[in-house]
Amino acid sequence: MDDYRINLAESELPQAWYNIQPDLPRPLPPYLHPATGQPVGPQDLAPIFPLEIIMQEVSREPQIPIPDEVLRHYRLWRPTPLHRARCLEQALKTPARIYYKNESVSPAGSHKPNTAVPQAYYNKAAGMRRLATETGAGQWGSALAFACNLVGLECTVYMVKVSYYQKPYRRSLMHLWGAQVFPSPTDRTNAGRGILARTPDTSGSLGMAISEAVEDAATHPDTNYSLGSVLNHVALHQTVIGLEVKRQLALAGDAPDVLIGCVGGGSNFAGFAFPFVPDKLQGRDLRIIGVEPTACPTLTRGAYAYDFGDTSGLTPLMLMYTLGHNFVPPGIHAGGLRYHGDSPLLCLLVHDRVIEARAYPQTPVFEAARLFVQTEGLIPAPETAHAIKAAVDEAVRCRETGREECIVFNFSGHGYLDLGAYDAFLEGDLKDVEFPEEELQRALRELPAVAGR
Ligand SMILES: *Cc1c(COP(=O)(O)O)cnc(C)c1O
Repeated sequence: MDDYRINLAESELPQAWYNIQPDLPRPLPPYLHPATGQPVGPQDLAPIFPLEIIMQEVSREPQIPIPDEVLRHYRLWRPTPLHRARCLEQALKTPARIYYKNESVSPAGSHKPNTAVPQAYYNKAAGMRRLATETGAGQWGSALAFACNLVGLECTVYMVKVSYYQKPYRRSLMHLWGAQVFPSPTDRTNAGRGILARTPDTSGSLGMAISEAVEDAATHPDTNYSLGSVLNHVALHQTVIGLEVKRQLALAGDAPDVLIGCVGGGSNFAGFAFPFVPDKLQGRDLRIIGVEPTACPTLTRGAYAYDFGDTSGLTPLMLMYTLGHNFVPPGIHAGGLRYHGDSPLLCLLVHDRVIEARAYPQTPVFEAARLFVQTEGLIPAPETAHAIKAAVDEAVRCRETGREECIVFNFSGHGYLDLGAYDAFLEGDLKDVEFPEEELQRALRELPAVAGR
């Protein structure tokens, strides 16, 4: 059968998440306390995270069971389909087989509810009343608003100011799901007031908004903090994607040669690709490619160094590729890819050359998105379009070399709330921004000093 979609039954939903930590080529270096330089312990994280999540962050169990209530909520949209992009293949005249995993079918339109739901669940179970978080383009804020509404928690969202005004419809989603939303930096927190005093005209950044949400959680006992990417437990929850893809490819009688995902903080790509990493470490010929914008080139131009997760230096230090915590990326349309750091797990694998990284400017990314729209029909999020551009380039390479490879990418979300970005593209208004080397060097000089490392 020449299937266009490979579906799993609800009963085939994975019952456990895949934890990559015991399979890493070497242990993940610990998070460090910014004041002491010592590894952070559970007690350091307890003011903002529930114990279950803290334990998942450092777990060495190969699998972690998905709670029944989370599975019930997942079934609102999971398992998600794996599509064979036959029309795109034809248009490209490639001998490659192209598949994409469609995470855009969740209620929030992206992969983010895969972790928002378990995070809300664990916080509710730990007796919390409210979650505070930041959001860039609004995808994470809307996913968490959706999840909090499901489990019965209040939700406060600090939304990066430029996105708050550029992407008003995600604000509407958050309001509909019952959340409170503020354009960050705000005057509600010390962090926000400090930033506004120094840079009153700032367009905001994810790092600034994180500072505000963490402070809100740390100063309210009934409130915890929730992060939509970067941390180990987030990558863990997202592995439900890759576990499904494995089964779906097996059903199609296929196996990947190239796996591709876009990288903001690394969670959709990690969740999609990590379940395949053991195969690669055991010698399977497999390329795993993370794709980022040239305007925020964390993996391709950043330093592999300990840095803060936020702008104000409130979070633990993490060893990751970073552009410096004071880096404010240009306001490109792939708002979800504007973060100065990346998942430490993903960074370790990039550093050890298990995973490759590449960067594209936004114009060719939108060109690839248009080709995808005009062949496959679905409208990708600008973030997702980065993965599409890489998949198209790989398929063209296959055409030129005659190789019949299997290329699989993660369709992390739809672009129905990003049509303004497509209008800008169609009107020729997109600018391709490279981050200037001297500005990058300046941000990197402000990396925190870590004793003895
Ligand atoms: C948030 C988002 C991303 C980037 O975040 P990651 O943590 O890197 O996955 C990518 N695509 C979509 C659709 C998003 O909403």
